[in-house]
Amino acid sequence: MKCVKCRDKAAVHIRRHNSAFCPACFQEYFTNQVARAIKEDHMFTHRDRILVAVSGGKDSLALWDVLMNLGYDTAGLHIHQGIFEYSASSFAKTTQFAEARHAKLITIDLAAEGDLDIPGVVSSTRRTQCSACGVIKRHYFNRVAVEGGYTVTATGHNLDDEAARLLGNVLRWQTPYLAAQSPVLEATHPRLVKKVKPLYRLSEYETAAFAFLRGVDYIVEECPFSHDAIQLQYKEVLNQLEQRSPGTKQSFVLGFMREGRQAFAATTEVHLKECPSCGYPTTGTVCGFCRLQQEVQKAQAGGRK
Ligand code: AMP
Ligand code: ZN
Repeated sequence: MKCVKCRDKAAVHIRRHNSAFCPACFQEYFTNQVARAIKEDHMFTHRDRILVAVSGGKDSLALWDVLMNLGYDTAGLHIHQGIFEYSASSFAKTTQFAEARHAKLITIDLAAEGDLDIPGVVSSTRRTQCSACGVIKRHYFNRVAVEGGYTVTATGHNLDDEAARLLGNVLRWQTPYLAAQSPVLEATHPRLVKKVKPLYRLSEYETAAFAFLRGVDYIVEECPFSHDAIQLQYKEVLNQLEQRSPGTKQSFVLGFMREGRQAFAATTEVHLKECPSCGYPTTGTVCGFCRLQQEVQKAQAGGRK
């Protein structure tokens, strides 16, 4: 098969677009897709300061690489979760990437933040690994951005992630989650930073191909607590559908963004209050992060008695 742009030998085949690219043209296509999402969805401009959440995996490192190549003002944020070898290796891949590009990387070590490392939190509270991890990561993504004067946080969620999440939300009709599922969430409070997902139009296969072709050394292993097994099952089902009918995931996600989300958003009112403990916005009284922190502190105090 030949590259649709230059007729050279193709290396990456994208069935949903019925096209194939040579390595150089694929990198150009990938970069253009990201640039298009940023522009069409009004994610950010060259005047913004962007905090890129980087896990050490292919998606977030590919995202950071593209944003730097497009000349955006970025810094990386890595959350060290204390999950044994997996976190040590994620941290190593992230720092190597940043150092090679002389890019600024902020690291939060959860063990040093009052024993919030994931294994510790799980043993001292009744939370599951994934729910604790989600609450903690979301809090730091926002807080580090607010405190550092960043105007946007960007994550590496791709088309497969968004399709799996959408399927899960639809199967259980999680209407507040459907209202909030968007590649762009505006800052609706002075202490809430805008959140964007510039890779949401690109599949996992495409981000892996891009990272590989760019020589990005990323962590291949999945988190050992991984993952929400159900999320992986949704991905498998969607892959089967995609196999039979290329473009299914894209029309599912992009169609929802175009047709569906607004309808849910219109019926869902969100009232933000300030958490009395940390001052960051929450829909409840005490925010989820502070509740978790209090549970950990209580368990520690109990252990000391
Ligand atoms: P996941 O929920 O693991 O699929 O990750 C989704 C996105 O969240 C990644 O693409 C990153 O942008 C971000 N992310 C996940 N884990 C971390 C981490 N430990 N530190 C910083 N960002 C992360
Ligand atoms: Zn709080």
